[in-house]
Amino acid sequence: MERFTGSFTQQEPIPEAGIEAALRVLNHGRLHRYNTAEGEIAEAALLEQEFAAFTGARYCLAVASGGYALGCALRALGIGPGDRVLTNAFTLAPVPGAIAALGATPVFVETTEALTIDMEDLAAKAPGAKALLLSHMRGHICDMDRLMAICDAADLPVIEDCAHTMGAAWRGTPSGRHGAMGCYSTQTYKHMNSGEGGLIVSDDPDLMARAILLSGSYMLYPRHRAAPPPEAFERVKYITPNVSGRMDNLRAAILRPQLADLPRQLDRWNKLYRAMEAGLRDTPGLSLITRPAEEHYVASSFQFLLPDWPAGKVRAFLARAAARGVELKWFGAATPQGFTSRHDSWRYAPAQSLPNTDRILAGLIDLRLPLTFSTEDAALIARILRQEAAATFQSDEDLAEAPLAD
Ligand SMILES: *Cc1c(COP(=O)(O)O)cnc(C)c1O
Repeated sequence: MERFTGSFTQQEPIPEAGIEAALRVLNHGRLHRYNTAEGEIAEAALLEQEFAAFTGARYCLAVASGGYALGCALRALGIGPGDRVLTNAFTLAPVPGAIAALGATPVFVETTEALTIDMEDLAAKAPGAKALLLSHMRGHICDMDRLMAICDAADLPVIEDCAHTMGAAWRGTPSGRHGAMGCYSTQTYKHMNSGEGGLIVSDDPDLMARAILLSGSYMLYPRHRAAPPPEAFERVKYITPNVSGRMDNLRAAILRPQLADLPRQLDRWNKLYRAMEAGLRDTPGLSLITRPAEEHYVASSFQFLLPDWPAGKVRAFLARAAARGVELKWFGAATPQGFTSRHDSWRYAPAQSLPNTDRILAGLIDLRLPLTFSTEDAALIARILRQEAAATFQSDEDLAEAPLAD
């Protein structure tokens, strides 16, 4: 029996050019983004300029984390205590966390079989909401044309959480460029790795002036190179609080060579994804996620559904896969493990009824695809999952007491 021996949490090393750039920053000691020598341009400012160009945005701000980027964008939009902010019921904890941190109330929108936001539920919940924090969870992009039409009609500003869609697009428009602001993460498990880090892009000068002041620019905002003109700051510089969350030059130095190499890396990720997809197609009892033609996705993880499987069978499948070295995450487990918390784990938000999301998450399996895997690795993982899924699905043993694998 084949067994997989790779690690699902091992990323590639930082590229040599990133290590050299980091050493230059360490050697000169000017890690704070506003600590520059005469004539020097800070790494953080250069990263912003390059990321703005990469996304086609007018403005960009580098911050301390993806979660900080979300909170900063919401705050720039004027979200505050008591406001209702819509977001995906299927997302990661930093998303409802960013809403709750402002004293606002997360209102969860249902999930479709494509793992994207449910448009009808969105339209129904839009009245009275102050914003939509749209999470492209696990890189699945909804019909952005339809979503923007619904939100524009309801006067609902959209902030995009692009933690899993850096470099992705919908009908040619980059993810993060549909709404008022786009937020990205450069935390280790995303598409670029600086340990922690975040980026915000926007074309709106007022929103971006506020975001830059919020991030802790003091009155040094003229040192930014992807910022709105001084007039935009004049309007808000005395009324915007400093909520420090800057990115430092060390992380920016690590990220710039990764950004230059991103298109090639995204291509490698998608090859892993396609190898998984090809290997799992037509597996009995297992459904792949349909990806629309308009979606240019960038993978870094893989999802599939075990629709309507009893929990005992799912647990048995997870145990069999784990025994062969394939570490899976299950969003349907009774208690959250690792990153698999879900709306009913976020008890700081009011309890909400989301039957479709609950049904889908009950059968949702997730695995990471780090770039340390080869396409042969992905094909091997798919073969193992195919055999174990088919065997578990077709077995008629009583699996109610199957061991807990999560
Ligand atoms: C990682 C992630 C974030 C941001 O996370 P940080 O760890 O704060 O950078 C936001 N949304 C989703 C869906 C994520 O996976």
